[in-house]
Amino acid sequence: MKKNRSLRILSFIVILYMLMALLWWAILLHRKNNEVFILKADLLKEEYMNKAGIAQLDVTTLPEYKELLKDYNRQMYMILGEAAVFGITLILGIYFINRAFARELTAAEKQKNFLLSITHELKSPLASINLILSTFIKRNLPAEKVNELSQDGLKECVRLEDLFNKILIATRLDKAFPFNFEETDLSNTVYQVVQSFKKSHADVLLNIDIQDNIIKAVDRESMVSVVKNLLENAYKYSSAEKQIGVSLKQVDGKIYLVVADNGVGIAKNERVKIFEQFYRIGSEETRESKGTGLGLYIVNKIVKAHNGQIGIESNTGGGTKFIITL
Ligand code: ADP
Repeated sequence: MKKNRSLRILSFIVILYMLMALLWWAILLHRKNNEVFILKADLLKEEYMNKAGIAQLDVTTLPEYKELLKDYNRQMYMILGEAAVFGITLILGIYFINRAFARELTAAEKQKNFLLSITHELKSPLASINLILSTFIKRNLPAEKVNELSQDGLKECVRLEDLFNKILIATRLDKAFPFNFEETDLSNTVYQVVQSFKKSHADVLLNIDIQDNIIKAVDRESMVSVVKNLLENAYKYSSAEKQIGVSLKQVDGKIYLVVADNGVGIAKNERVKIFEQFYRIGSEETRESKGTGLGLYIVNKIVKAHNGQIGIESNTGGGTKFIITL
């Protein structure tokens, strides 16, 4: 971002310098044009006076003078036109180069963030599994403890699996993803995802409001992924006393899926960017939450593939509300 600002300042200075040079060039040309015009008019006057043998003459009445004036004006417009074309081309050129470079910088920043986060996301479950297995080897633990640690190890394995699935889905969504649209009981699908989420997240208060028998032709697995991602985010970006609301309703033929939380909220200027691949709010060096910046990218792609829309609103009393319309 710092590089971005320096680039903007540098381009601004270059544009300003070139525009000033251009302006100076135009002024000089205009002066020369003026001098030439005056010289030619004087010459014409002298020639006429000599020919006619008179001492005084109003040169502006001569037809040749009018031709000279036309020539002078033509030159003026030419100078102004050239200066304008050159100036506009210059500004546009620098603007497009600047924009392309800024995009490259942003993409590089996002890639760097992704690498940092993915390294962390891989390292921590692996370290846990490593520790659990080493403990099993070194110590003779009672069956109860072995069971408890094995459950923890399994959770870490599921976390790793989820991470790889996310990367895999995101990569496949970039190409032609084989969606399998079929009549699905959405009410049941959402309900099941919420129930399984509830089991693994005991510390959250869930408000569930799911209308029965909402049937729609969707890719069931993708829809599961959408709800899971939104729930995981609602959980991840909320602090203590987490409250998540999930509602599914059908009104006038439209289906509304809403996931609302009481978390940190999302600033208005971030609400478009968070759907970009690898984009995460803030900087990877200072951020505490884990993630890859792939979740909402996947959600958005899936919703779009179902001809749906996704909106973000601030939740009443703080937090965020994701509204999906199908
Ligand atoms: P990840 O959660 O892996 O970082 P996502 O694509 O799911 O990636 O989300 C992108 C960013 O959007 C997150 O890094 C986070 O800053 C922000 N975000 C997503 N969901 C929420 C939410 N419910 N509340 C606040 N911020 C959120």
